[in-house]
Amino acid sequence: MAKLTDPVTMLKGVGPARAKQLSALNIRTLGDLICHFPRGYEDRTKLVAIESLQVDTPACFRAMVMNTPRVSHIRKGLDIAKVQVADHSGRLNLTFFNSPYVTDMLQYGREYIFYGAVTGDFIGYNMTNPVFEPLDAPAVTTRRVLPIYPLTAGLSNAVLLKTIRQALAICDPPEEIIPEEVRNRYHILPAETAYRVIHEPASMEEAMEAKKRLIFEEFFVFSAGLSLLRASRAEKRTAPYQNRNMQPFYATLPFSLTGAQRRAIDEILEDLSRGAPMNRLVQGDVGSGKTMVAAAAIYCAAGNHKQSALMAPTEILAEQHYASLKKLFAPLGIRIALLTGSMTQKQKRETREALAEGRIDAVVGTHALLTDDTTFCDLGLVVADEQHRFGVSQRSKLSGKGGEVHLLVMSATPIPRTLALLMYGDLDVSILDELPPGRETVDTFLVGESYRPRINAFIRKQVQEGHQCFVVCPAVEENEELGIKAATAWAETLEKTVFPDLKIALLHGQMKGSEKEKVMASFARGEADVLVATTVIEVGVDVPNATLMVIEDADRFGLSQLHQLRGRVGRGKSKSYCILTTHNRNPDTLKRLKALCKTTDGFQIAEEDLKLRGPGDFFGSRQSGLPAFRVGDMSGDLTILKEAQAASAKWIDEHGAEDTPQAKALRLRIGELFLRAEGTMN
Ligand code: ADP
Ligand code: MG
Repeated sequence: MAKLTDPVTMLKGVGPARAKQLSALNIRTLGDLICHFPRGYEDRTKLVAIESLQVDTPACFRAMVMNTPRVSHIRKGLDIAKVQVADHSGRLNLTFFNSPYVTDMLQYGREYIFYGAVTGDFIGYNMTNPVFEPLDAPAVTTRRVLPIYPLTAGLSNAVLLKTIRQALAICDPPEEIIPEEVRNRYHILPAETAYRVIHEPASMEEAMEAKKRLIFEEFFVFSAGLSLLRASRAEKRTAPYQNRNMQPFYATLPFSLTGAQRRAIDEILEDLSRGAPMNRLVQGDVGSGKTMVAAAAIYCAAGNHKQSALMAPTEILAEQHYASLKKLFAPLGIRIALLTGSMTQKQKRETREALAEGRIDAVVGTHALLTDDTTFCDLGLVVADEQHRFGVSQRSKLSGKGGEVHLLVMSATPIPRTLALLMYGDLDVSILDELPPGRETVDTFLVGESYRPRINAFIRKQVQEGHQCFVVCPAVEENEELGIKAATAWAETLEKTVFPDLKIALLHGQMKGSEKEKVMASFARGEADVLVATTVIEVGVDVPNATLMVIEDADRFGLSQLHQLRGRVGRGKSKSYCILTTHNRNPDTLKRLKALCKTTDGFQIAEEDLKLRGPGDFFGSRQSGLPAFRVGDMSGDLTILKEAQAASAKWIDEHGAEDTPQAKALRLRIGELFLRAEGTMN
């Protein structure tokens, strides 16, 4: 028997070239092969009569060959074989391109099972290159459910399927890590069965059972990992913060806090004085005032002679935080510093020295703060802004590093409550579900292409009034077919033909990090009138002077994402607008987009997204900072996720610390999953 860790090259037919193709799919071992799950299936189990074949819809049918295949040599490199087949309901002409073998394999008077799609023209129906098997041959490519795999250049589905089956034939699938009692309770297939059936199901029902088990398994492992993380932190102790006098802080604020902000701050103060490290997520819509909540925590830490580090996902966000916190903290005597990669070596060295010697109370920087050689005199609190970039592996790394450090993560991505528990099971959650008073909502409109002249006029009007505009496109490169406005091409059009007198800037994900920051910073300084961008602008950069956001082909985005994008405007004093354009006429799509025009409540929008598109979107997005789950989309079944979470929490509680082989195997798998998560971050 081979082992899961054995290299793929031990399989027949897998030489260096094939191994290289496989490695493009991150497949190196037999285990990787077995865990390369199909992204879908083709149901070829049902047989259809020829007369019931639908144009362009592939199906299986049983038919007899009515003549000997005739081959015509058209030109060099092009041979065509034609043959007619029939069943009780009708006849059909088949055409095979460059398939010399069919003349031998399709015999006059014999019956075969075919699988293919008919195409229709005015002469009649025809089918090109169907797959087929003799009626009495074993069913391999017809009469069964065919797994469809994620592929890479040069590697066909058939070859991949064969290779995976070969691996399964000589190697046992990953061992069972879901306890029997849990499997029985939730009607979950055993590992042995599931890993085989997912690759060769006898029916769609079987395939779905296997998929359910594997989703359950991944989520069981993930939630168990979060539970262990939480449990290990719960054992840690810190000196409780005694000084909880926040009056001076509140007194300097230029406004009074919202009820939600106060509640979150109270929860944080409670955490800080408990004597165990805080692990809290503050979720709040764009503009709900998360920075003030973080500032309160930093103030409390400083009052207890502890240093804080505030981490932002980009340098420019770090600079913005630094500027606003500096203003706030100066009168309070709290010493704050900035530490980013673009500062000079000398500046950085001085700041680091001051930090190490305790002459600085709080430092603002990027995530590099945690990884580089920055040392603290007495670090007490880490705040991570825009949590989605601060994933589970960073969370576990941090708690492994300075165990006594309080952690506060802030996220502007509203996650429905049910999902938040599943995704952040290791964190306590505070929700800012209230905006500061006097905030004007961003008026949102959904329009079709006929409004183009009015949109352009509106952009011009905003610019003439001294404001700036965002224009967001769904893709970087032009995709004619879908009519998607590529950011690059659109920026060029706007610059050359529509607004030759305005300054147009371009920002997209294929640009280098430093370049992106430069463009964004320059736009924030007002050096361009219109910024054409892809979704890279999602992360919370503040450009209060931007009052208009145009989102092209808005139907291409998820609702939550659109809401997130819309949050880039309406941050200043002037009235702001969001225009969604679409070519789409689908009533459901339009209804979905109209919902966005009616509400600005991110949590409500997220719930709507969850209902419409399933949890897959929340888990799938790179931004979730979660591990890359292997079972395709996590979409559809929220119940499986909830069951897996409940089961794992219970099991970890009762058996997690045991030294049984099962507990050990589970811990190993958790380690692997969290390790894999790192690749998905940033
Ligand atoms: P976000 O939650 O998106 O990070 P910020 O913390 O950046 O929001 O706050 C957005 C703006 O609202 C800032 O200009 C901030 O000063 C202001 N703000 C925060 N809290 C309040 C409040 N309670 N009343 C009025 N303005 C507030
Ligand atoms: Mg913010």
